[in-house]
Amino acid sequence: MGQITLQRVRKSFGPVNIIKDANLDIDDGSFVVFVGPSGCGKTTLLRLIAGLEDVTGGQILIDGRNVVDVPPAKRGLSMVFQSYALYPHMSVRGNIAFGLKMAGLPRPEIDRKVEAAAATLNLTPYLDRKPRELSGGQRQRVAIGRAIVREPKAFLFDEPLSNLDAALRVQMRLEVTKLQKQLGTTAIYVTHDQVEAMTMADKIVVLNAGLIEQYGSPLELYEHPANIFVAGFIGSPKMNFVPGEAAGEPGVATLGVRPEHLRIGKEGEGWPGTISVAEHLGSDTFLYVDAGKLGMLTARCIGEFDLKAGDRVWLLPDPARLHRFDKEGGVIRK
Ligand code: ATP
Repeated sequence: MGQITLQRVRKSFGPVNIIKDANLDIDDGSFVVFVGPSGCGKTTLLRLIAGLEDVTGGQILIDGRNVVDVPPAKRGLSMVFQSYALYPHMSVRGNIAFGLKMAGLPRPEIDRKVEAAAATLNLTPYLDRKPRELSGGQRQRVAIGRAIVREPKAFLFDEPLSNLDAALRVQMRLEVTKLQKQLGTTAIYVTHDQVEAMTMADKIVVLNAGLIEQYGSPLELYEHPANIFVAGFIGSPKMNFVPGEAAGEPGVATLGVRPEHLRIGKEGEGWPGTISVAEHLGSDTFLYVDAGKLGMLTARCIGEFDLKAGDRVWLLPDPARLHRFDKEGGVIRK
């Protein structure tokens, strides 16, 4: 089991409140991603769950038991770090086996578990190598192997892929999610990369300045952001925001429309503007349009290869995909 619940969790460093009042229910077996801008408290929240930091207030329950006074090694969680944290003088086998040896497991059982993990992670040919003889992706697999063999209630990942190049990140992202589903172990994963969050998560926690802004599935966050912060954070390119008044909706403080929900209208149809930059990527065209009092708008279109900087266009928003926000940035539900 690996059901994790946070109740009114707070953390201050000196006078500064870093985590303000975190309430969260993480289902057993789910993959939850913490995402948010730099310094919002993602790593701190993960370290509180791991027990590497003490809470200032509130409770952390693992399978119904409050663990705030339980030391990290006794919480039944395995952490995987960005830096891999492998022992350089030990072989891959030694690194994966280390925690099991410390726990005093019999040798044949250790060997069996290490070999099973190595097979799952395609590390069998490298078991006798040292970390320096491995690629970055292989090292990260060893770090994951070390976490797996302990059969934890949950994996805690702190930006584990950020030292890898772009292509390898995409590959490892798939491997990590596949492995987590196969093992059925709860996972909490910290990243500042919202594409990683969208593609890996069953549920995403969006953090901002120590507060949970929204907790939901990737699609819920994309389609129904709770406020202007989440709307602007989830989705790439970023959602366009225009003043309600200028867009003909005076009761609305800010109107949001995603670049993919703007299309090129006929003359006189939609919002007029002038293309300042046109990026033709083949599959998509990104248009950056100066729309006067509506500001700069980004449109993501398919085709439209003839459009270029200086062209006059009309941008037509999909009326079903508009997001309306009040003065405080909260969503206005119809
Ligand atoms: P990033 O994406 O940049 O890693 P993060 O969201 O993981 O950011 P945290 O590392 O959790 O952010 O840090 C949140 C805030 O807490 C930051 O302002 C940081 O400076 C502060 N902080 C973290 N650890 C400590 C500490 N031990 N003492 C004092 N302040 C700290």
